[in-house]
Amino acid sequence: MGRDLGPDCRLCRREGEKLFLKGARCYTHKCAISRREYAPGQHGLRRTKLSNFGVQLREKQKVKRMYGVLEKQFRNYFLKAVGTKGVTGTMLLQFLERRLDSVVFSLGFAKSRTDARQIVSHNHVAVNGRRVNIASFLVRPNDVVEIKTDAKTVNAIKANVEVTKERKVPGWLEANTANLKAKVLRVPMREDIGLPINEQLIVELYSR
Ligand code: SF4
Repeated sequence: MGRDLGPDCRLCRREGEKLFLKGARCYTHKCAISRREYAPGQHGLRRTKLSNFGVQLREKQKVKRMYGVLEKQFRNYFLKAVGTKGVTGTMLLQFLERRLDSVVFSLGFAKSRTDARQIVSHNHVAVNGRRVNIASFLVRPNDVVEIKTDAKTVNAIKANVEVTKERKVPGWLEANTANLKAKVLRVPMREDIGLPINEQLIVELYSR
């Protein structure tokens, strides 16, 4: 299981927008992008006009980084999306949202997607009663996702729920936050994914 281990805030500054990779810190004045709203590196302050390719590339990098997925896996999701009936861009986002770490994040059990991935990989999550520690596991309609772990971790996850309670749980998931349990009602629709993403740019990039 690979992931980008570089500094998270640098990724946001590179994309020029908040990707919310650090949980609670992202909502405070400590957020790096509010203090230094320019790209990182020696030439970060230099403004350059992006070509069409550049715009498409940046959109793809942004989404990849939002979901914490590396290039090869992201491309595989795209290839799967191409082979699935429906709008390719929407199918791509659907696969990303159905990942178990994304689900744990969407349910508010984790403050960031990075934390969600850790909760999954540390074996604290069960799907349909069986523990699953693979962040890329794709949930299906009628799956039951629950936190199944020791009391100390349960308390830590309940504290996360308290911090994230303002975040709306998407309509494709039915959450029971008191029991740290949820049911997958259906696959996510485009309108369930309230992220500022122009997925068409990614489709155009990979179709070159
Ligand atoms: Fe991005 Fe969060 Fe860092 Fe702000 S604090 S730059 S939103 S990761």
